[in-house]
Amino acid sequence: MKKKILVIDDTQENIELMLELLSDRYDVMVALDGQHGLEIAQEEEPSLILLDIMMPVINGYEVCKHLKNNPKTESIPVIFLTAKVDEDSIEQAYEVGGADYVSKPFKPRELFARVAKELKVQELISRLKESQQKLELLSSVDYLTSLYNRRYFLKRAEPILELSKRHNTDLCVIMIDIDDFKKINDKYGHKLGDEVLVSFSNLMQELSRKSDIVCRWGGEEFVILFPHTNLEGAQTIAKKLQKRLKELFIVVENDNVIQFTVSIGLSIVLSDDKSVEESLLRADSALYRAKKNGKDRISIF
Ligand code: GH3
Ligand code: MG
Ligand code: MG
Repeated sequence: MKKKILVIDDTQENIELMLELLSDRYDVMVALDGQHGLEIAQEEEPSLILLDIMMPVINGYEVCKHLKNNPKTESIPVIFLTAKVDEDSIEQAYEVGGADYVSKPFKPRELFARVAKELKVQELISRLKESQQKLELLSSVDYLTSLYNRRYFLKRAEPILELSKRHNTDLCVIMIDIDDFKKINDKYGHKLGDEVLVSFSNLMQELSRKSDIVCRWGGEEFVILFPHTNLEGAQTIAKKLQKRLKELFIVVENDNVIQFTVSIGLSIVLSDDKSVEESLLRADSALYRAKKNGKDRISIF
């Protein structure tokens, strides 16, 4: 597909020249004034804008400032088309966010080369952004279960804690530990242990809302943060998790199946908690009590 280029120029002659020069290779859109140009830029999100400086009503510098102040258009590169090649004008072109400038009268091959160069730079930037996003995702997700990892959980939890304090809304956290997991590993092998972790993670994902943050805290321990949820609400979800676990069967050798249970510690987040880790300490001590009282149960701090 051809890349879109928007030309904003009030001189019909220049517009025709640009069309002739660029239309074979690019999808060229035109605007005869700044206001119209801004509207097209916002709607069509072209890959590049060629922008005249001297235009009535809003000049090119102003148009460029508007483009750079709008999140939708800020990353579109702007090449100024200018008859003004004094140092001040060129400096201003860069100051308002221009990527490059081409002086009038145009040298067609130079213009063509500058356009191609700017599009190439743009492509490299967007590839860089993509790989950055992939890296971000990789560093926030646990490789085995695809749940968020501890690092990401703590990063996300802090602003949620702040919001809940400011708006005085309920926030709960549960800590979950699989019971006798070591025995499963020892009896059926590490690989099956991994399968248990994945199945349980999928169940948690299925039962939680989009706003909940489900995390593999480490090993066979998990944490879920429930925004806008009171103690009863969190307890209901914890019970549901245990109930659904009774229906979960993991197939082992010779078509036998095994089942497993979890212990859960629950705590509300208190308004004077300085961090979510403080709330987690309480959930952890509730979890310890659940284990001590015979496992496969929910304990509330
Ligand atoms: P409890 O009921 O008291 O929680 O006992 P447990 O056996 O579940 O707990 P323990 O802490 O003694 O053992 C946890 C085991 O989990 C030990 C460790 O080797 C295993 N483990 C940790 N991470 C993984 C993993 O990614 N995959 C597998 N298969 N095992 C893991
Ligand atoms: Mg454990
Ligand atoms: Mg355990």
